[in-house]
Parts: sequence; structure tokens; C-alpha cells
Amino acid sequence: MILDLRTITHETRGFDFSLGPDWWNITDQKDHPGDLCTPLSVHIEIYKTGERYILSGEISGGFHMTCDRCLESYHKDIASEFQIILTPPSWESNKPETELSDKDMQVGFISEEEMDLGEIIREQIYLSFPIKSLCKEDCLGLCPVCGANLNTRPCSCLKDKGHPGFLELKRVKLEGEK
Ligand SMILES: [Zn+2]
Ligand SMILES: [Zn+2]
Repeated sequence: MILDLRTITHETRGFDFSLGPDWWNITDQKDHPGDLCTPLSVHIEIYKTGERYILSGEISGGFHMTCDRCLESYHKDIASEFQIILTPPSWESNKPETELSDKDMQVGFISEEEMDLGEIIREQIYLSFPIKSLCKEDCLGLCPVCGANLNTRPCSCLKDKGHPGFLELKRVKLEGEK
């Protein structure tokens, strides 16, 4: 996945490849937001303009995720499109920012002539994960008393505890305690 930038010219070059769980898991990072189950298909295009490189990419794949609320695992498809300007570190301070007006464009810095595409892809995947992992938007979570998954099995623990607003409060508190 190492790209030699010296081979990149003003003519766009495209790369298509696929990355599997072996690649995803090869890191010391223990807190993976998900397990890759459908291999990532990656399309990258890159060209050079002046001292900079413009890289655009499309990634898609599927992950096994764990719901933050009910702790069940579920499948999530991730798709990401991105554009990055790769620039030598000195560039930003020397040039006006007019060309960076496109706010969808990210800026990355290159210090060497070789670049690890894997790192960029990994970062884009992290960015495309939701901040809160939920199996579904209205997941009911677990009962704070008996631990039942309230999506599948209503329990009677909180039945007599009055106003439903209190249930909501309890749930918020429970999540805040994590
Ligand atoms: Zn859930
Ligand atoms: Zn219960």
C-alpha cells in the first residue's frame, strides 16, 4: 500500500484494490469501532499539481459493530468519498489560503516521497463511523434493573415507577455513567 509519490505526475493515476480483515486488524489499537466483515473495496485517484498532490478516493465495506446501548452486534455498511490535498509542510505558511475554499477538501501533509495509502484509508474509515454506535436509531437499550434487552423482551421492572419521563432520565444517567 506504499505509494511512491515520485511516480505521480499531472496525469491522474487510478488504483483499485481490496482490503480484508487481515489488514484492518494489523494494528495495536485495541478499541476498534468495528470488525471488518465485508472486505473494503477501494478506489484511489491521484495527480500532481505544482508541489501538491490531489488525492480522491472511494471506500466501501461492511463492519460488525456493537451497539452502545443494547450491546448487541449488528452489521453496518460504510461508504466514504473523500478528497485530500497532500502538501509539503512548508506550503501552508507560505501561501494564501484562497485555494482551500472548498471546505469538503481535507489537507494532509507529506514529509517523505513515499506515502502509506493504508493510513489514509484507515483514517477515512474512522471518520465515517458514527460517534455513537446504535443498532437502530430508536434502540431501547438494556433494562438498568434486570439487564434484559428491551428491544426483544419487555420486562416489568420499571412498570410501577411512574412517569415515562423518569425512564428517559434513568437511561440518560446510565449512559453518562459509562
Ligand atoms: Zn441496540
Ligand atoms: Zn428489567
